[in-house]
Amino acid sequence: GSTNQYWLESIGRLNPGDVCLAECQTAGRGRRGRHWISPFGGQLIMSLYWRLEQGMAAAMGLSLVVGIAVVEALAEQGFAGVELKWPNDLYYDGRKLAGILVEMSGTAGGPCHLVIGMGLNLLLPKGEQERINQPWAELAGIADIRDRNGMVIGLVGRLHDYLHRFERQGIAAFREQWNRLDYFNGKPVRVLMGEQEIHGIARGIDEQGGLRLETPQGIRSFLGGEISLRGN
Ligand code: ATP
Repeated sequence: GSTNQYWLESIGRLNPGDVCLAECQTAGRGRRGRHWISPFGGQLIMSLYWRLEQGMAAAMGLSLVVGIAVVEALAEQGFAGVELKWPNDLYYDGRKLAGILVEMSGTAGGPCHLVIGMGLNLLLPKGEQERINQPWAELAGIADIRDRNGMVIGLVGRLHDYLHRFERQGIAAFREQWNRLDYFNGKPVRVLMGEQEIHGIARGIDEQGGLRLETPQGIRSFLGGEISLRGN
């Protein structure tokens, strides 16, 4: 079904860093129950288990750090020019190349269990492409894909490094790096919050990982899961 779902159900048996890979998903998901299309052989689908002893609050901004790790691992393997869209997408040429979905469980006062999922388009079969209702991109359109296993190893290694650094230093330490990779930085955008739509210029992220929007009334910051960013 979904590597994230499988790993969430497996938490009691997992150690931090354990990875689940799949060739396809029949119930891949995005944020707020949206459908994530992951056909056989067309994607790198991966979920990684991690644990934060400090609890849920310490996880704020973690999905942004995951995005940086993936972009940099890809660049190292010859896939240059990949950018980020707040809070959890990878973009290439203004089109969606990959999605990151971080899901959590835990109790007050206990550790935070995290499942960090990603679906990265490699080469999407015809017939599936048409099912994606927004502009999309695939890795094969950037450079030749030679070594999927090597790619996974690079990705997991980079994720470990960055997650450890995140535990020590928090999201603030990654702010500049994230802002450099931000596709929308300096562009006119709309922020969608339920029925409300706020227009402005995207100005990267703040110290907590919130989206900064320049409006005629000044800079506003947005944090939280019910917010979507769109180009103007
Ligand atoms: P948000 O800004 O709120 O995250 P989003 O539309 O990108 O908006 P997500 O939940 O991140 O939402 O991702 C799900 C969406 O991604 C789907 O509704 C679809 O538009 C798109 N999508 C689904 N499968 C793929 C895919 N393989 N490649 C690119 N885009 C996809």
